[in-house]
Amino acid sequence: MTAILSNLQATRGAVQAAALAAGRAADSVMLLAVSKTFPAEAVRAAYAAGQTAFGENYVQEAVQKIAELRDLPLEWHFIGPIQSNKTREIAGHFAWVHGVDRLKIAERLAAQRPPHLPLLNICLQVNISGEETKSGIMPEELMALAQQVAALPNLRLRGLMAIPAPQDDPAEQRKPFARMRTLFDELNAQGLRLDTLSMGMSHDFPAAIAEGATIVRIGTAIFGSRSFPQP
Ligand SMILES: *Cc1c(COP(=O)(O)O)cnc(C)c1O
Repeated sequence: MTAILSNLQATRGAVQAAALAAGRAADSVMLLAVSKTFPAEAVRAAYAAGQTAFGENYVQEAVQKIAELRDLPLEWHFIGPIQSNKTREIAGHFAWVHGVDRLKIAERLAAQRPPHLPLLNICLQVNISGEETKSGIMPEELMALAQQVAALPNLRLRGLMAIPAPQDDPAEQRKPFARMRTLFDELNAQGLRLDTLSMGMSHDFPAAIAEGATIVRIGTAIFGSRSFPQP
């Protein structure tokens, strides 16, 4: 647990350094701590170190953790793949959903968002590397989906999210992030008021920040490596 404090400090420093290196304000990138597979105590340790925004991938695991941590003022982001039979729980427990890639899912979240909660913040996931098996909408179809989602009640379309195919070379890492930035600018030129680019993970967040990321989703660098493989 003491490692979480020093990992968080190091990660925050690296995020701020990447922002400054890109000519951006040090506080222009939000750090989302991805706590999937780690217990509630790990989240408590991160909170004690000043972290309040957490990302989770698995609905069952997340809902249990959120209940255990009810006493803390945390902001929960759902970042995993979304099954339509899980939308009600997602709409009831989270402040943000990053992986929306179909109108049907957005419609269900809009219909199921409890009225006493604030608007549910939405990012549309883009299949930016064009991978057959990956979730995310294809860039050609993004504009139409964005217009439809922006018109739904109870939701606030905030921006775009992507998980590019893994690359080791930082120059190669930047290319899909740059394409995301272009899509983001195109949507805003069409009148959508987007303010969020959710991109960058432990292995590629400096490249994402160089291309304009406003939220980086970081798990391993903060909590350590996960003990079972992720989808
Ligand atoms: C697990 C996960 C992350 C964090 O990945 P790390 O490599 O551990 O930083 C970020 N985004 C999504 C969508 C994830 O599933």
